Amino acid sequence: GATPPVVELQSVTKTFGTVRAVRGVTLRIDPGQVYGLLGPNGAGKTTLMRILVGLVRSDAGTVQILGRPPGDPRTLRRIGALIESPAFVPHLSGRVNLQVLARARGLPDAEVVRVLRAVDLDGAADRRVTGYSLGMRQRLGVAGALLGDPSLLILDEPTNGLDPEGTASMRSLIRDLAGSATVLLSSHLLGEIQHVCDRVVVLDKGAVVAEDSVSALLSRSGSRTVIVRAQ
Ligand code: ATP
Repeated sequence: GATPPVVELQSVTKTFGTVRAVRGVTLRIDPGQVYGLLGPNGAGKTTLMRILVGLVRSDAGTVQILGRPPGDPRTLRRIGALIESPAFVPHLSGRVNLQVLARARGLPDAEVVRVLRAVDLDGAADRRVTGYSLGMRQRLGVAGALLGDPSLLILDEPTNGLDPEGTASMRSLIRDLAGSATVLLSSHLLGEIQHVCDRVVVLDKGAVVAEDSVSALLSRSGSRTVIVRAQ
């Protein structure tokens, strides 16, 4: 189409020793999409995300993010990512934790106020992180990823380990954020992708087994096999 993609991968491969973590992945994420990476443990979801944020270098293929290679400082400024569980200082408040991150990047405290509101933690901002539920910590992690107003938000299994209430609140947060950023999120649950995403790529052992709109994937004959394997 006429709009340049936010993410464009062509035949991307990554091998760790003898493990072929990512095998010839080609995909394109357009602006405004909530895009899902669906696959079981070991499918290569985290490795793909680490490639996008420049933490892992692909062995072959091409990667373009917002028209530039990964790891370019101009690209990194426009990506917010929550890939590992967020590391916060537990005895400090949510606000102070975010202020530390914001100041390290030269962002004003007003930006901290903005992201706390975006994740609905303004009421708990001055409480110590030790008193937060897992869901609140995870939302604080998303707030950290939102600092600097990224064009691309990358969330690795954002509801992993959350109770039903935390899961529901994270899902609705992601839908809210979709208006202001392109979102890439991973999950091993089809239900998650179904509730949150517009498009999905299904990965198995590092390779793409399906790529489609969520509705088309769900209605297509034969998709059950794909989905069952993905769970
Ligand atoms: P999970 O849901 O468990 O995080 P995943 O889909 O994110 O799974 P990856 O973490 O990307 O999958 O792992 C894909 C494969 O690559 C796995 O077999 C994993 O053991 C291997 N792998 C990932 N990172 C490394 C590494 N740094 N060194 C060696 N092997 C790795």
